[in-house]
Amino acid sequence: MYTLPALPYDYAALEPAISEEIMHLHHQKHHQGYVNKLNAALSQRPEASLSLEQLLRQAKSLPEDIRTAVINNGGGHYNHSLFWQIMSPNGGGEPNGRLLADIVQKYGSFQQFVDAFSNKALGVFGSGWAWLMPNMDIVTTQNQINPIMDGEPSPILGLDVWEHAYYLDYKNVRADYVKAWWNVVNWPEVEKRYVSEV
Ligand code: MN
Repeated sequence: MYTLPALPYDYAALEPAISEEIMHLHHQKHHQGYVNKLNAALSQRPEASLSLEQLLRQAKSLPEDIRTAVINNGGGHYNHSLFWQIMSPNGGGEPNGRLLADIVQKYGSFQQFVDAFSNKALGVFGSGWAWLMPNMDIVTTQNQINPIMDGEPSPILGLDVWEHAYYLDYKNVRADYVKAWWNVVNWPEVEKRYVSEV
């Protein structure tokens, strides 16, 4: 059985960037829904004993009758579990140390990285995610696809640009959501993930 992780902060903690109402729906309804559907798809199946990451790393070679459910709902579970962790009410600002140095080396400055990541996130057509990979590439995926399904390392930062992540607060203006989101990025957590992947 896969289970919904508790949020590491209160539902209202990310305001004003993300409202309590969105956080509540996003965690209790959307994320819980992915967990429930994943468990339903894998009930009575040996694959249910795999860790979530193990499951997703072999998602594309799973039996056809569970493959799509795992990609959609297992991906949703994994992506949201990461998303809650890389945000914090004490977030924002810039990273430190090696992560900042490597971002600056690749993008020229932290602000140029923010602009590049934001542009990628704004360019996702429909529902999907923008990711920062441990090699400093910025990639995007559709729906609940995660790069680990294609044999890549785990992303160290991710931004949910599904409309359910922002529509109640920002209507159709994804750019305002992306701009506000930088104020809640939990850089110490991103740095921790970076150090463990490189
Ligand atoms: Mn979402």
